[in-house]
Amino acid sequence: MQQLTIRFLGTSASRPIPRWGCDCPQCTASKMAPHGERTRPSILINSSILVDTGPDIYRQLNRLPYEALGLIDHIIISHPHADHYMGLDDLAGLRRISRLPVLPIYAPSDGWDRIWSAFRYLIASEASEYDRRPFARRAMRMGEPLAFDDGLVITPLDTHHTQVFTTAGLLIEQYGRSLFYASDFHYIDSGALADVEVLVLDGSFLTQKEADRRYTPHPEEGQGRHLPMLRGLQWGHQVGARRIVFTHLGHVGLTDQELISRLADPVCTLAHDGMAINLPANCEEICLA
Ligand SMILES: [Zn+2]
Ligand SMILES: [Zn+2]
Repeated sequence: MQQLTIRFLGTSASRPIPRWGCDCPQCTASKMAPHGERTRPSILINSSILVDTGPDIYRQLNRLPYEALGLIDHIIISHPHADHYMGLDDLAGLRRISRLPVLPIYAPSDGWDRIWSAFRYLIASEASEYDRRPFARRAMRMGEPLAFDDGLVITPLDTHHTQVFTTAGLLIEQYGRSLFYASDFHYIDSGALADVEVLVLDGSFLTQKEADRRYTPHPEEGQGRHLPMLRGLQWGHQVGARRIVFTHLGHVGLTDQELISRLADPVCTLAHDGMAINLPANCEEICLA
């Protein structure tokens, strides 16, 4: 069946859940549940486009069947914070497995300096380096759509998560279906997303008070700004989304059930590691699995 599919490989914010030595309700429930752990944020689009390569990426991909690794042929890095790109070295072996001899990596132009300084030895900047390096550098410009196989189009939009570099949220469209993925989100003009069906938004904080308390601006590191979930829900309703899913879940101290009841909104769901969103071609169904 033709469908647009997003699979969550990891759904935590910059630190995993459970936290070391913490016995809050959230960490306790995470330890007890068979699949309760949350690892650093990453998704696979249609089994072939890997979005973000944080410190857990090797282990996350190891949970998939080996054959699934061979289907990955493009990588997108949303922004160069450690939880989104520091696992890149672990993926050098994909070159042996993938159908492509060199895997393109797309990242916002102003984020490439950081990625480059950490992983220069892995990334070809010109064709003459393709035999020595597993990845090729590709710039991604905000508002310019990238076209992939079978009519899949991904348009990066700046989520204003830091003032130091651009963070790409991804408008993902195929088969008449649409989803916007922004694990690290402060704001974008809601007009840019008119008619989007599913929003996947930032779950770092529940309330504005909590976000203000934990936010310490750092001019060099570009410490992130995160729209709290309660405001994300309001924004999502302005956009007119039919389903709002939170990922990049922070250490909010509540079990998932408690968090859902605080959010108290029938269109809202929490993502978990391994979960998939399937949007079958040309219909209205939104399947969470
Ligand atoms: Zn992040
Ligand atoms: Zn970030």
